[in-house]
Amino acid sequence: MPFQPSDNVAQLRASATIAVSARAKALRAAGRQVIDLGAGEPDFPTPAYVMDAAHRALEAGSTRYTQVEGILPLREVVAERASALRPGAAIDPGSIVVSAGTKQALFNACFTLFGAGDEVLVPTPGWTSYYEMIGLARAIPVPVCGSPEGEFKITPDDLRSAATSRTRGLILNSPCNPTGAVYSRAELTALAECASERGWWILSDEIYRQISYEVEAPSLLSVAPDVERLIVVDGVAKSFAMTGWRIGWAIAPPEVSRVMTALQSHTTSNAGTIAQHAALAALSDASAARATVDAMVSEFRQRRDAALELLRAAGVKVIDPRGAFYLYIHAGQANPDNPAPGTTFARRLLEEADVAVVPGAAFRTPEWIRVSYAAPRDQVLEGVRRIIERRIS
Ligand code: PLP
Repeated sequence: MPFQPSDNVAQLRASATIAVSARAKALRAAGRQVIDLGAGEPDFPTPAYVMDAAHRALEAGSTRYTQVEGILPLREVVAERASALRPGAAIDPGSIVVSAGTKQALFNACFTLFGAGDEVLVPTPGWTSYYEMIGLARAIPVPVCGSPEGEFKITPDDLRSAATSRTRGLILNSPCNPTGAVYSRAELTALAECASERGWWILSDEIYRQISYEVEAPSLLSVAPDVERLIVVDGVAKSFAMTGWRIGWAIAPPEVSRVMTALQSHTTSNAGTIAQHAALAALSDASAARATVDAMVSEFRQRRDAALELLRAAGVKVIDPRGAFYLYIHAGQANPDNPAPGTTFARRLLEEADVAVVPGAAFRTPEWIRVSYAAPRDQVLEGVRRIIERRIS
């Protein structure tokens, strides 16, 4: 009998963003000088003060299992930072579940909140894994599309039009991967109020919140009218250049945290012990944390500005990113012969010009491509020049 995947994974698609990076790495291994603007991974080293803490934890013998939900001091510091965002409502460490990356925190949340036939609204373009994780819970991701003129941001009216009696929740991600859009306090409040009126869950992915160029990106914790149906996820990957350490967390109502912990107890147990100690150090030293984030944001800003200048001078249609580290670029108008111009363009760009970018189809907007500027500045600018030379629109 040939292998037949189970119904659990029958619809599952491998991560397109990871696939691009894998292809870029393979081409590099074959001797090609590929510029990888596909990966959403800061090119900075993990800060020295975090590495030192990891060494110390290793020397102290922190090599055993921890509580499934994570070591208490890490949950305490996460809770303290979260409480500061919502004056008057102390968030308890019992509300926090530490996981192997924000990705696992999101998966735990989707699997815990949503089930067969539930509909979940996903502002689109949206990060590729949201659609798949919702599908793994046998729920249905419902894309809610904004317009490029409005930076693809969505409004309460967009949500209401897409909702049905089966709608159970919505995912928010500000700053947004892939557009770099940042919702204002007023915009987020309006979305949160709409969700609260309808009794929907909000799953707010705030992994890029520290990487914001103009104004501080508000957290849902500081704008939501209530937190009874709110889960906020975050992690150290992007703001502390700690992608490989795999530490993220969810902040949820305690009864939800308990179920997510039980789920995690049967899947991965605790996140890596040394990595938890490293994340604890990253967050605990507030001034070192601030300096790390400020230095990265300042470098990202310079890359963004220089890349935007080139793109604007060439008349390329691009969303002005106000946070995160991506440029979302229009690759061409879809037509019957070329239904996914972003995919066609990304393929040509890699094969003919040695530049890896992610096709917008991964984010359910096939006319676009995502270009990461979390790569050295000269490579970002060279990559952008090659995009301009070969662009379709
Ligand atoms: N959420 C978004 C929007 C992301 O872009 C990513 C990584 O690319 C993640 C979550 C996953 O983060 P982590 O590395 O902490 O699992």
